[in-house]
Amino acid sequence: MTTPLTTASEVNDWTAEGQRYLMNTGRRAPITIVRGEGSRVWDDTGKTYLDFLAGLAVLALGHSSPVVLEALRRQGEELILVADTVWSVPQVKLAKRLTELSGMHKVFFCNGGAEANEAALKIARKYGKLHKEGAFEVISTDNSFHGRTMGATAATGTAKYREPFEPLVPGFSFVPFGDIEAIKAATTAATCAVIIEPIQGEAGINIPPDGYLIELRQWCDEQNMALILDEVQTGIGRTGKMFAFEHEGIKPDILTLAKALGGGVPVAATLVNEKFDVFEPGDHGNTFGGNNLMTSVALAVIDYIVDNDLIEESATRGEYMLAKLRSLEDRYEFVKEARGRGLMCAIELDNGKAGDVMQVCLENGLIMGQVRDHVLRMLPPLTVTTDEIDEAIAILDRALASVE
Ligand code: PLP
Repeated sequence: MTTPLTTASEVNDWTAEGQRYLMNTGRRAPITIVRGEGSRVWDDTGKTYLDFLAGLAVLALGHSSPVVLEALRRQGEELILVADTVWSVPQVKLAKRLTELSGMHKVFFCNGGAEANEAALKIARKYGKLHKEGAFEVISTDNSFHGRTMGATAATGTAKYREPFEPLVPGFSFVPFGDIEAIKAATTAATCAVIIEPIQGEAGINIPPDGYLIELRQWCDEQNMALILDEVQTGIGRTGKMFAFEHEGIKPDILTLAKALGGGVPVAATLVNEKFDVFEPGDHGNTFGGNNLMTSVALAVIDYIVDNDLIEESATRGEYMLAKLRSLEDRYEFVKEARGRGLMCAIELDNGKAGDVMQVCLENGLIMGQVRDHVLRMLPPLTVTTDEIDEAIAILDRALASVE
């Protein structure tokens, strides 16, 4: 084994130093992870954890996947980045692969989910300008999350994320998630798009009622407005299909992807169908977006997922995990609901103790995600094994028992 980058001799209080030197943007547990492999990570004291957050739905193939490492090494030795004044082979190859897999027409690459949504919003507005008498309004949903840049923040349906930064980009309205009549009522002649997560992730894994997205697709067609599907979290196999829209048999006009696309490296994409292919030179761009290194890794990740039937397998493991979570509903009165699709699962508690449960899980070696005081999320790598799921559920079970 190679020498660890963070060694025991580097004795340090990373929590104290982190609080001193990093801006206060996230609530972090006083734990410092220094190594990962597959679904497992190790902290700087040598303690091991099952990582059922996977970098927040990022590490599709697990930590330090050999697939990612090999692509990084090979492409890194050859060419890391060229400016977008010339063509890049892995970028073109990845764009072709993504369009073939999604049925979309063209791709723009960037580095993260918020940037991908920024591009989507600009495309919708440009379409409105060109083809819908300047329509610019965008309908979004309550509790949605679309990122932290100004445009993506304006599209995010959680007031506490928007209010400190107002005035934001104008033209956004919000309706309850899952309510098609509310979208119809909010639509005006000036509406150019609806932006929506097929399953709301940051809001606590909210699955819309059957038929909602199909009706939304029809409504957007009737009104000549873009259906922007934010699949930053749901895309690339997370829900048991390559893209969550496949569950509904619909296609978006504009699709955004990030998180799992690079298996841990920053790469994101905005895809359009032919109708919304409106960008012209000068409209948009991104220095690091789609660089050779990241697109090469993403290509290797997607090839691995497809060649190894990982989506079908992860869907089966997702059903297994959900069944196990549902069994906790019967065992604990305060477990209100277990829900999920594929390996995107959550349990909702009605005793306000999600934070306590998460803390006990951490102490016992399980990392999960928490949404406010009532939801716990599980988003393990697509490569998670049934043994690892059993181990995680056993830890969760004991943690739930401890707060009864
Ligand atoms: N959209 C969705 C649905 C997300 O879940 C997230 C992040 O959690 C984003 C957008 C923002 O992505 P990023 O943090 O990469 O900018």
